[in-house]
Amino acid sequence: MLQFVDVGPRSLANYRGLAPNNLLDDLLSIARDLKGARVVHINATPYGGGVSELLRASVPILNDLGLVAHWKTIAGDERFFRVTKKIHNGLQGGPRDLTASDREAYLSTCRRNAESFEGDYDFVFLHDPQPAAILSMRGKSNARWIWRCHIDTSRPNPNIASFFYEYMHGFDSAIFTMNEFVPADFPVARVDIIPPAIDPLSPKNIDIGESTARQVLQWIGILLDRPLITQVARFDPWKDPFGVIAVYRMLRGDFPGLQLALVGSMAFDEPEGWDIYRKVVDETRNDPDVHVFTNVIGVGNIEVNAFQRLSQVVIQKSLREGFGLAVSEAMWKATPVVAGKAGGIPLQMADGAGGILVETPDQCADAVRTLLKDPDRAHELAQRGRERVRQQFLLPRLLLNELHLMKELTEGHPIVRDPSWSSEHDVVCGMMVSHDSVTLKSNGRIFRFCSESCRNRFLHNPRPYMAA
Ligand code: UDP
Repeated sequence: MLQFVDVGPRSLANYRGLAPNNLLDDLLSIARDLKGARVVHINATPYGGGVSELLRASVPILNDLGLVAHWKTIAGDERFFRVTKKIHNGLQGGPRDLTASDREAYLSTCRRNAESFEGDYDFVFLHDPQPAAILSMRGKSNARWIWRCHIDTSRPNPNIASFFYEYMHGFDSAIFTMNEFVPADFPVARVDIIPPAIDPLSPKNIDIGESTARQVLQWIGILLDRPLITQVARFDPWKDPFGVIAVYRMLRGDFPGLQLALVGSMAFDEPEGWDIYRKVVDETRNDPDVHVFTNVIGVGNIEVNAFQRLSQVVIQKSLREGFGLAVSEAMWKATPVVAGKAGGIPLQMADGAGGILVETPDQCADAVRTLLKDPDRAHELAQRGRERVRQQFLLPRLLLNELHLMKELTEGHPIVRDPSWSSEHDVVCGMMVSHDSVTLKSNGRIFRFCSESCRNRFLHNPRPYMAA
């Protein structure tokens, strides 16, 4: 049986004063048309990583809005999750191919999960590659099926892509985080662009106050009279933990007593996380100022909250990234961020909001050095980061986008980049934008953008976007 994940009751009313009011009003209004709709979100794990963060936040609010929403996880053994990690890496462009027995392990586990899928739903959301083949094995019944992709699939390994695409047929929509992530030959006709968001009321993001945050970090051995830089990320090569260690080593001579915290959660759908964790621990064993933490030793949401609040700089040195929720989490706490120019990170930090984008370890070290030496500049960037998250990357905006999609699918008239699309969406990144966003009139059409960066990209070469 698919595992049912319990989520507590929560209320959208609590977001007044945090998220923009017009957004909350729009959400309440559209939810009226979807009352009673039965929705299930299916993913691989109830904890660890961005997808479980999102579902824990969004499923209770869907219920509060009058839909009937469930969250379920698939079952699989270590072999299955090693294969799905290979598929995940391959869709992100990794070179390793699948063997015949890998394919069989993936398909047989999906088949078992498809057989144990119970319940009638109006909308089925399958997240990421792990459960994706369930549709082809179970059939659609009366539901609309949506594949939600959380990773950067812009340049997939062609062998893995062609295997995986066979199981994409029949989806009513596929959701990507950004336009750029949609692969050229993707087989689902309707594509929607919806970036993820963070929940400002989750234990990880709620305002815990400075004194509590200080006590939490002191409890686990962080010395708060010394500078602290932190990366919060799974132990995954794409998150470049060894790059972060190299950056810390470049900086510690300039900032005596500098501490580095590497905080990474372990998910059971990711067996190779332990291998990398052990290598990170071996690499840093002799340096008492490098702290390596995991959820397994009790460093969970509140600790992450405190790290993101009290670090002088948060690093997210990703080489490849889907969205990178941890970036918005730090920005929301008005902490300056230095982050890799990868995946959805530049979208979050557009126009310099939140901190500095980098591409190499040297640039990363320079940027952290700049922010540590110039707290006024760091503060100004961080304040802009918090406001950008408030406008674009809080949970109600994500739910509004998803409800729009569900409503359109209910009407049975899927819009595939209808001309009116561009009046509501940034044609560059694809994100839904409000009417007070940055605009530009061109050829009699009004284009709206989420940021100056997207507008400038449009101005640089409008042709591909005019056709959208
Ligand atoms: N996270 C956590 N504890 C950790 C490391 C990460 O709770 O020790 C959370 C992090 O705060 C974020 C999520 O896991 O909410 C990671 O999501 P992101 O989109 O940044 O990356 P993903 O893991 O999905 O690639």
